[in-house]
Amino acid sequence: MSEQDKKVYLNGEYLPLSSANVSVLDRGFLFGDGVYEVIPSYCGDLFRLQDHLDRLQASMARIRLQLDYTLQQWLDILLPLLDSSKDQYIYLQVTRGVAPKRDHAFPAESVPTVFAMCSDIQAFAGVKTGVKAMTIEDSRWEMCDVKATTLLANVLLRQQAVEQGCAEAILHRKGYVTEGAASNLFAVIDGMLITPEKTAEILPGITRQVILELARDNDFQLAEEIISLDALAMASEIWITSSTREIVPVIELDGKQVGEGVPGPLFNKMNELFQAYKQKL
Ligand code: PMP
Repeated sequence: MSEQDKKVYLNGEYLPLSSANVSVLDRGFLFGDGVYEVIPSYCGDLFRLQDHLDRLQASMARIRLQLDYTLQQWLDILLPLLDSSKDQYIYLQVTRGVAPKRDHAFPAESVPTVFAMCSDIQAFAGVKTGVKAMTIEDSRWEMCDVKATTLLANVLLRQQAVEQGCAEAILHRKGYVTEGAASNLFAVIDGMLITPEKTAEILPGITRQVILELARDNDFQLAEEIISLDALAMASEIWITSSTREIVPVIELDGKQVGEGVPGPLFNKMNELFQAYKQKL
């Protein structure tokens, strides 16, 4: 089956991707007025589904978009999209829906547009070899805790990194690190695993959360605190984390080798723990 023929969910219907259309007056199209989730599914089991749905609900609350589906309603929508023989991810998007005319202010009444599709998780070679990254000033807005479809700043930042041969842009504000353009960040500094604390300047990543739990349960020295750019430059390991790529070691930052220039020992340990955790679920 070609990608265009795969079944997707749109507003109560399952239909081929090529036939799934929304109005040009959809506020997601006109304003990026929507939120989304990316939820991994390992052989048909949705990974940390409740956490993803809680974050979706939090994102919707932050942008004052009301949609109160129960867990069962979400399962009814998502499960028919999955193929239990594969590792996949669901892309789920909710926009404020179609308005009668283009106006920034919310329409008096609108029905949210709900879209979900499933794609195969492609193995990412960088997990094994490590990747290059570069630091770039964080040019995003002040609601980075919202998983908004309004991703223009992230797109431009990631593109800038890619054009420099890097897999990710590591973002900073006022001299301290926030996160990646599409990932959270961990650094090993003097043997301590550190990640920036949860604020509106970062997305509360589900992968980040799992890593924190695994680190606590396995007696890692751990802190959630500010990482300055200077401290990051001294880190012996840097990892970027996200649902589709899991944990990726950064072996070169701004043209300089990180640690020994290979995935570090704490990365190897955490990646093993993470894979074992997935298996157990
Ligand atoms: N931060 C940003 C900006 C992201 O886009 C993502 C997801 N791609 C993450 C962090 C990681 O979040 P999660 O682990 O929930 O995928």
